[in-house]
Amino acid sequence: MKIAIAGYGVEGEANYAYWSKDPANEITIADNKEIPDRPVPDGVPTILGPDAFERLDGFDLVVRTAGLAPYKIKTDGKVWSGTNEFFAKCPAPIIGVTGSKGKGTTSSLIASILEAAGRKVWLVGNIGLASLDILDQIQPENLVVYELSSFQLWDAERSPHISVVLMIEQEHLDVHRDMAEYVAAKANIAKFQNEEDLLVFNAENEYSWSIAEGSRARKIGYPSDQTAHVRDGAFYYGDQKLCSLDALKLPGVHNQANAIAAIDAAWEYVQDPAAIEAGLSSFKGLPHRLSFVRTVDDVEYYDDSIATTPGSAIAALRAFDKPKVIILGGSFKGSDFNELAKEMTHHDVQAILIGDEAPTIAEALRAVGFEKFEIIENATAEAFTQRAHELAKPGSVVLLSPSAASFGLFKNYKDRGEQFVAAVNAL
Ligand code: ADP
Repeated sequence: MKIAIAGYGVEGEANYAYWSKDPANEITIADNKEIPDRPVPDGVPTILGPDAFERLDGFDLVVRTAGLAPYKIKTDGKVWSGTNEFFAKCPAPIIGVTGSKGKGTTSSLIASILEAAGRKVWLVGNIGLASLDILDQIQPENLVVYELSSFQLWDAERSPHISVVLMIEQEHLDVHRDMAEYVAAKANIAKFQNEEDLLVFNAENEYSWSIAEGSRARKIGYPSDQTAHVRDGAFYYGDQKLCSLDALKLPGVHNQANAIAAIDAAWEYVQDPAAIEAGLSSFKGLPHRLSFVRTVDDVEYYDDSIATTPGSAIAALRAFDKPKVIILGGSFKGSDFNELAKEMTHHDVQAILIGDEAPTIAEALRAVGFEKFEIIENATAEAFTQRAHELAKPGSVVLLSPSAASFGLFKNYKDRGEQFVAAVNAL
């Protein structure tokens, strides 16, 4: 086959490695940068430059990297992706997880519960392994947990056996053309399911609910008294008590919701309370997700740099019943800050605003009468951490839950989180 690998970053490299295993394939690498993020292997033909993706006629297959919008590709061949290839070839059942926030945490919790019950699990996607790298090692009796973004699902032609749709909120409108397109991409996680499949969806979220309405699968809207839920300080499945809430080591009600979704999904394979308890308690959380850094002068610092949406910043505010200083702002992602602004009025909190979104957030805060904020222009991690240290009273919490992307000020959310941790450690 004549194959174009469209987009040559980390994922493009994995795609190249996979398709180049067959010597009969003739591969070309296409990228809209003159120098792609990853080095092009010697002797491989390239199509490079700003219009590269519009010049892909004459290929049988164009393998799209997740972040490249399908509509940007002009080809007379078939547009395909690593995710589509994996769905088509994976010999084991797949549990797919999507939503705006909570995917990484919920996927990890599902994998942890299944492993505690003795299953061999492959955790793939953003926080796990690159799916195509391990495809040939998967056995039919294994289980795959796949964290799926809207970008991966955009042109999906199959759905997982078990799909989990977490909370969905407005985001990624820098890449998706509108909210309808974003939700439609996510809906592909359920679109091709049949009556034997299971859909776990967030019954408290209108977008998640709308995806469920269009699905033929068996459905569990969470939380529900019939299935996984929290009651009297414990996790239950229906009337069966599973374990104490303390088994979950992650802060916040939002993480309890993630755990409920994880139990509902894992329940297809694991109904043993001891395994569920062990699975929940052995997962200690992922870096940059509301992770504790240290206490300085009786103030606790949390790195939540991956909180790139207002919904995740709201979740962080609700996770602590103490006075707070929150660092908000960064680059544009099409978010609406009105709900976050309203939430701020319910907390004893002061805000430090940074980045391109600072004026937009300031406007949303003023509109609800919230005045306890200040803007730091051209902020560095040292500057906003130092200022947070000055503002925080003993007994309070400092949150880097910016509710915006990091570009402009930092390379990415990891860089932002690492620089914050370094600045906190230097206090
Ligand atoms: P994702 O993989 O979807 O980005 P993560 O589990 O990595 O999600 O968490 C990303 C951010 O979202 C963190 O700040 C985390 O605290 C927050 N978060 C996780 N689950 C939820 C939820 N159910 N609702 C709101 N925010 C959440």
